[in-house]
Amino acid sequence: MQDHLHGAAKGEAGQAYETDVIIVGAGPVGLFAVFELGLLDLKCHLVDVLDRPGGQCAELYPEKPIYDIPALPIVTGQELTDRLMEQIKPFHPTFHLTQMAEALERLPDGKFKLRTELGTTITAPVLCVAAGGGSFVPRKPKIDGLEAFEGKSVHYAVRKMDRFKDRDIVIAGGGDSALDWVLNLQPLAKSTTLIHRRDDFRAAPHSVAKMRALVAEGKVRLEISDLKGLAGADGALSAVVCETKDKGRYEIPCNELLAFYGLTMKLGPIANFGLNLNENLIPVDTEKFETSEPGIFAIGDINTYPGKLKLILCGFHEAALMSQAAFKIARPGERLVFLYTTSSTDLQKKLGVA
Ligand SMILES: Cc1cc2nc3c(=O)[nH]c(=O)nc-3n(C[C@H](O)[C@H](O)[C@H](O)COP(=O)(O)OP(=O)(O)OC[C@H]3O[C@@H](n4cnc5c(N)ncnc54)[C@H](O)[C@@H]3O)c2cc1C
Repeated sequence: MQDHLHGAAKGEAGQAYETDVIIVGAGPVGLFAVFELGLLDLKCHLVDVLDRPGGQCAELYPEKPIYDIPALPIVTGQELTDRLMEQIKPFHPTFHLTQMAEALERLPDGKFKLRTELGTTITAPVLCVAAGGGSFVPRKPKIDGLEAFEGKSVHYAVRKMDRFKDRDIVIAGGGDSALDWVLNLQPLAKSTTLIHRRDDFRAAPHSVAKMRALVAEGKVRLEISDLKGLAGADGALSAVVCETKDKGRYEIPCNELLAFYGLTMKLGPIANFGLNLNENLIPVDTEKFETSEPGIFAIGDINTYPGKLKLILCGFHEAALMSQAAFKIARPGERLVFLYTTSSTDLQKKLGVA
């Protein structure tokens, strides 16, 4: 099995840990924060409800190219995650995965104690919330017996395109994800059917045009229909059941169903961390990216401030400035010297290159 952690340490569920900075969320921004904090000798523990690092990049679009990461003209969501994991290796972060960061308390000495749903506790003087859109969950089709097929032949994300090679796939939905995956998987799949309840798509017009061209060429079957049920046994699909006013109920034989009905972004337990919120986002200043609670910072998609852009590169900038402020809290009285990685042998030693 692929080592998504690139050899990084995994925390043990139920244990108690102490560190310099707790990071909630191992998306691209949380990962880069480990680097910036590491340059300042601050150690990090990261908590994520997903089973791998990378946040939206790894979970929602691992194989899609990103074009606006500085100096990386093209990089997929998974490659970016892998590169970040490589970049933070020298700083030996510890990951606590597949667990929700559930409860936060401030101890009498001013430190934070975070508890996860698996009973792990982490204590630190600084908490950095890099929780993106919150703990996101896919919206599911309302179909009886769906659970028996989930993770086996019903999917809400594409982890590996190869998984769908030579399979009869049905993609349900009318937005960008549904259309993108029709275009990307059609060349691999044995057959590709797109089901949408009306002949009107919310996706980018050029994707819709490409999809319609594939339908005209007979390479994609388009069904304007309601998805009503699943047929199969032991988690293996044999068909999906559709319904229209004219045709009534009918089956489309298939092995895999990919349902893209959008995501519900749930802030989740962070709503109870005692922070001021603005429409489920955490307001911060733009000097330190600190929240209403001293010692708690928020970076990446989860924060809000005038002019905020939900872009990875903006989150990287926020991580750099947050780290300077975190140092002052974690190392009170110590002097912070601004250094370049190109010219400081001290930083190069930390990075293991000098
Ligand atoms: C299809 C798509 C294409 C995109 N393309 C681009 C692009 O080209 N360029 C670009 O800059 N941006 C792009 N984005 C946006 C980009 O992915 C986000 O800006 C980025 O992922 C934000 O990073 P983050 O680390 O702040 O949050 P996320 O990536 O959302 O990661 C946050 C993590 O926090 C975890 N989490 C939340 N709450 C908890 C909790 N209580 N306990 C435990 N874990 C928790 C979540 O599970 C998640 O893994 C795209 C987004 C999508 C969906």
